[in-house]
Amino acid sequence: MNAPSAPRDSVDDLAPRILSGERRALARAITLVESIRADHRAAATALLDRVGQAGRQALRIGLSGTPGVGKSTFIESFGLMLTGQGLKVAVLAVDPSSSRSGGSILGDKTRMEFLSRDPNAFIRPSPSQTHLGGVARRTREAVALCEAAGFDVILIETVGVGQSETLVAEMTDLFILLMAPAGGDELQGVKRGIMEMADIILVNKADGDLKPAAMRTVADYAGALRLLRKRAYDPEGFPKALPVSAVEQMGLEKAWAEMQALEGWRRENGFFATRRAEQARHWFEAEVREGLLARLEADPEIRARMRALGASVAGGQVAASAAAAEMLAALAQP
Ligand code: GDP
Repeated sequence: MNAPSAPRDSVDDLAPRILSGERRALARAITLVESIRADHRAAATALLDRVGQAGRQALRIGLSGTPGVGKSTFIESFGLMLTGQGLKVAVLAVDPSSSRSGGSILGDKTRMEFLSRDPNAFIRPSPSQTHLGGVARRTREAVALCEAAGFDVILIETVGVGQSETLVAEMTDLFILLMAPAGGDELQGVKRGIMEMADIILVNKADGDLKPAAMRTVADYAGALRLLRKRAYDPEGFPKALPVSAVEQMGLEKAWAEMQALEGWRRENGFFATRRAEQARHWFEAEVREGLLARLEADPEIRARMRALGASVAGGQVAASAAAAEMLAALAQP
């Protein structure tokens, strides 16, 4: 006998379906966390709280690389290799450009034709959203939902444009940088900050005519990585650079073995849990800050006061810092 059924798409309806790994329920739940409607937000929060109690964890892997480097080809090959081993793989995307182009570029199912038809894979394209903060929350919550649905590996794809990488690094356990074979001088153009974020650099397209250049590039990155200060949360030999060919499926097992080795070491040495704990704290604080700002912006009186003070600052009647102090003092009053 079934219990009386809950209304469709309610928390009571979605939660058990997500926990049993039903992909349609997962997709609906992600749509719910993407919504900015207040009642949807409340339902999303309740749902996340409910399914989070299952305490399931996936390995969260961030993957970044400039357009054309082979991200979707890599995710297709790598994802199929993992599902071939019996693992369940989810692919999400953080795409800062989607709001500008009005469409989704990353995580597009047509870019991963076979993986998208694999019953053990779930691919969710990035929604078009206007600000990175919204994208961050949506992705974090989608990750939590995928974990609750029993996925083993979650790949979060982003393009190599700075801010979005930091964001993805802040919500993943491992951060992988996908690079193309390059000349030595191009290598110097890679931002140090991005190199420092990477746990593993994969030089893709190590096949055919490009293979010699790819192998040189691997050696160049390996050299550059050795020059970086050793990080406390890395075992000997990390971060490291490896060659792969997404098209020829070369080096993928080795890359996966290295990811698992790094994960295992960090788990044994406590860095895995510490990193997750720090990330959770970070996102909690970020959300409070955002909520506070949203609340301020929703208050017409405060908005009017901001506008008036802003005009005075622009007109040179008040200094910016004095106006800010006045505004903050006004906010502090009950
Ligand atoms: P993305 O923009 O980073 O997602 O890159 P794509 O996966 O769309 O790949 C861009 C181009 O590089 C396509 O023409 C692919 O066929 C090609 N490509 C991707 N991976 C490889 C590879 O391992 N070897 C070679 N030779 N070409 C590749």
